[in-house]
Amino acid sequence: MSISRRKAGEDAEVIVVGAGPAGSTAATYLARAGLDVLLLEKSTFPREKVCGDGLTPRGVKQLIDLGIDTREQAGWLHNRGLRVVGGGVTLELDWPDLASFPPYGVVRPRQDFDEMLARTAQRAGARLLENTTVNSAITDATGRVIGVNAKAGPDKVPVTYKAPLILACDGVSARLALSVGLEKIDKRPMGVAVRRYYESPRSKDDYLESHLELWDRSDPDNPVLLPGYGWIFGMGDGTINAGLGILSTSKAFGTTDYRKLMRSWLDGTPEEWGLREHNAKGKIGGAALPMGFNRTPHYTPGLLLVGDAGGMVNPFNGEGIGYAMESARIAAEIVVQAMARAEGPARERALEGYPVAMREALGSYYRLGNIFSKLIGNPTVMRTATKYGLPRKTLMKLVLKLLAGLYDQRDGDAFDRVITAATRMAPSV
Ligand SMILES: Cc1cc2nc3c(=O)[nH]c(=O)nc-3n(C[C@H](O)[C@H](O)[C@H](O)COP(=O)(O)OP(=O)(O)OC[C@H]3O[C@@H](n4cnc5c(N)ncnc54)[C@H](O)[C@@H]3O)c2cc1C
Repeated sequence: MSISRRKAGEDAEVIVVGAGPAGSTAATYLARAGLDVLLLEKSTFPREKVCGDGLTPRGVKQLIDLGIDTREQAGWLHNRGLRVVGGGVTLELDWPDLASFPPYGVVRPRQDFDEMLARTAQRAGARLLENTTVNSAITDATGRVIGVNAKAGPDKVPVTYKAPLILACDGVSARLALSVGLEKIDKRPMGVAVRRYYESPRSKDDYLESHLELWDRSDPDNPVLLPGYGWIFGMGDGTINAGLGILSTSKAFGTTDYRKLMRSWLDGTPEEWGLREHNAKGKIGGAALPMGFNRTPHYTPGLLLVGDAGGMVNPFNGEGIGYAMESARIAAEIVVQAMARAEGPARERALEGYPVAMREALGSYYRLGNIFSKLIGNPTVMRTATKYGLPRKTLMKLVLKLLAGLYDQRDGDAFDRVITAATRMAPSV
């Protein structure tokens, strides 16, 4: 039996705000380590989340680390690689064979995925309170975050919850971080992505498919190749998830009608794929993608930013689930160490290790990603890369490793060594 470290007036040892991939993963690790965790979630499960529903092997590794059974028998749809379409060519690139990551990606609707992770946290011992919307942080006289203000239940009853540590896992809205003045860093890239489900004969697919040519034809005399890509992910159940994501680094960002762009892209796909209005299921949903550590510092006294709340989306490819889980695992490790120390400077020293650990894990790689996103924001660079890069399969294998963060940092092949060297040379964001 563990002896609680909770002091009078505290509701938990750690409060986790938001039960998406970041929050549920952090809550699971923390509860497994014996901490008393309160997990606050504004919605009720199962609930929809606008997403592409795809995980590369990098994301699958996080599921495996968490002890989730990712075999197909357990309901996961596996894929063996990425199909890239563009520049007049179609390339099938298998996920690389690596020591660090499994050789398969997965697809699973977030409606089901997020509930599964939230239940995993509950089984580990975290106390999940659904229908609880956190509005702001409570701070003490020194500015340290010591709790949260929330509205609970259908009647939105005002409540407060206190704990020595709070994890902000509330996604791109980052309401908690904003309440203590942590604004996003505008010079770091953002993305916007939209998606919709369609009934389609392409539902069973061994590859995640990405379309690299997204043209903005709003001015017919001057079509612009946008920095981003469209995806078609077979869901295995008779439907596909189709969507597109665009980077903030192009002039078209903010002025593009993404829903219109999506319809015009899909109208250009073969009729037999079924990606037409009459096969659509539900509406087009969209959200922003906070990339390249666009909200820092990741630790301010009492508050850790995890997942989208800390801008953890990969600026190379827009992938965020695996990185939300990765940052959650790192945050949980740090919090467990911190909570084993007495309150005060020793505990703070451990907590200040969180931004350092995040920079070590992803800082240089994201720095390169932020540069990459600026470069492809220039239509000429984007056009040249698509035209000359895509037809070269060997080059594209390197590009896949770089864009999906799939390389071995130790004992890798020549490509892995090139990427590792490049990330070592880049200063961290
Ligand atoms: C269209 C689109 C497609 C995408 N496709 C992919 C993809 O295919 N693969 C991939 O890896 N990534 C994809 N992403 C990115 C991915 O969805 C996110 O990076 C990921 O969900 C981040 O996880 P998170 O836990 O940090 O935040 P979220 O998943 O946003 O979870 C935040 C949780 O906090 C809750 N919450 C929010 N505010 C409050 C509050 N005030 N109080 C209490 N609870 C709150 C929310 O209800 C939610 O449950 C896509 C994003 C978009 C928009």
